[in-house]
Amino acid sequence: MLALNSKLPEVGTTIFTTMSALAAKHDAINLGQGFPDFPMNQQLVDAVSKAMLNNYNQYAPMPGWMPLREAIAEKIQYLYGAGVDPDQEITITPGGTYAIFSALTAILSPGDEVIVLEPAYDSYIPNIVVNGAKPILVSLNPADFSINWEAVNAALSASTKAIILNSPHNPSGAVLKENDITELQKLIRKKDLFIISDEVYEHLIFDGRSHLSMLRYPDLRERSFVCFSFGKTYHCTGWKLGYCVAPAELTREFRKIHQFNCFSCHTPSQVGIAEYLQHRDAYQELGGFLQQKRDHFLQCMKDTRFRFLPSYGSYFILASYEQITDEEDAAFAIRLTEQYGVATIPVSAFYQQRVSQKLLRFCFAKKESTLEKAAERLRNL
Ligand code: PMP
Ligand code: GLN
Repeated sequence: MLALNSKLPEVGTTIFTTMSALAAKHDAINLGQGFPDFPMNQQLVDAVSKAMLNNYNQYAPMPGWMPLREAIAEKIQYLYGAGVDPDQEITITPGGTYAIFSALTAILSPGDEVIVLEPAYDSYIPNIVVNGAKPILVSLNPADFSINWEAVNAALSASTKAIILNSPHNPSGAVLKENDITELQKLIRKKDLFIISDEVYEHLIFDGRSHLSMLRYPDLRERSFVCFSFGKTYHCTGWKLGYCVAPAELTREFRKIHQFNCFSCHTPSQVGIAEYLQHRDAYQELGGFLQQKRDHFLQCMKDTRFRFLPSYGSYFILASYEQITDEEDAAFAIRLTEQYGVATIPVSAFYQQRVSQKLLRFCFAKKESTLEKAAERLRNL
């Protein structure tokens, strides 16, 4: 057998794959991996089907179907007051994860450092390592998962090339506030950094909060790769379609990576989404819709011994199980799946050192009946 020198020797199978497989094996309710179990919008399904029937079945242009990029630019102008050039500043990608990977690959050289705030979405660190660069881990404040800017500043070095931000945040549901933007603006004045901004949950934001996209702030935007996902916006995670918005000069480098990796994305989905993006209600109502789900889930779970932390955005909410058991979170999540028929995600999976804080992540983007059934099972704990 030919010897292979692994680029990621410490990486195994993702926790999302592992827990979804375990859920399937035990016929458990899957509140682990983040995907909706309710149907997506039929009008969008019809628009994509129509595109296929109308023969939009060959390669789209490398940067993406132009009417889709134009519709995205219009949406960004409307939501964030930013003029983005659809020709030179928007690239359609096969999902948000790919956009983040391509942005990191475009900017990183071996030895560079990237600041990663933990708990962190699981793809960030391997994406950095595979490029020969080094993740510099900074913990979010344990009480509310806000950013410890003092620690971020202390983590800077001559090799720091970028910082990755994610708001609304997976797994905690924390969101950026105005003071975070001020701190970030101070940071970039001190150190010339790229920003990789993971904004896949831009519309999933609750309790009257606004999404503080990097695109709102010219001084931040000029150094940012802002990554989005249609999977999250339109309840079609399986379509794996997203986009990256970055200034022309950065987009040029981004596309050099993209054109020799994926080259171009699924054409009929792009044609259908371009048409459907005209319906502003579809994305504007999303926050309220998910907020109701969050509140329904909390109501259903109030007689359990889980203690929920606040979630202001995303699909997710964290719960402490301190009052239930001393087990490590990974072991407890497995036992819950096997014995109680409810799958969750242990939060230690979002930390490189796998520290267990007795927290589980629940995905509430589910039908009310699913949430009710899960709560009923967890009441027995
Ligand atoms: N970033 C975060 C924080 C996520 O939770 C997800 C979820 N999938 C993604 C990126 C990736 O989105 P996509 O499925 O479009 O790649
Ligand atoms: N983003 C989803 C989550 O956090 C999972 C995506 C994946 O399975 N890679 O649950």
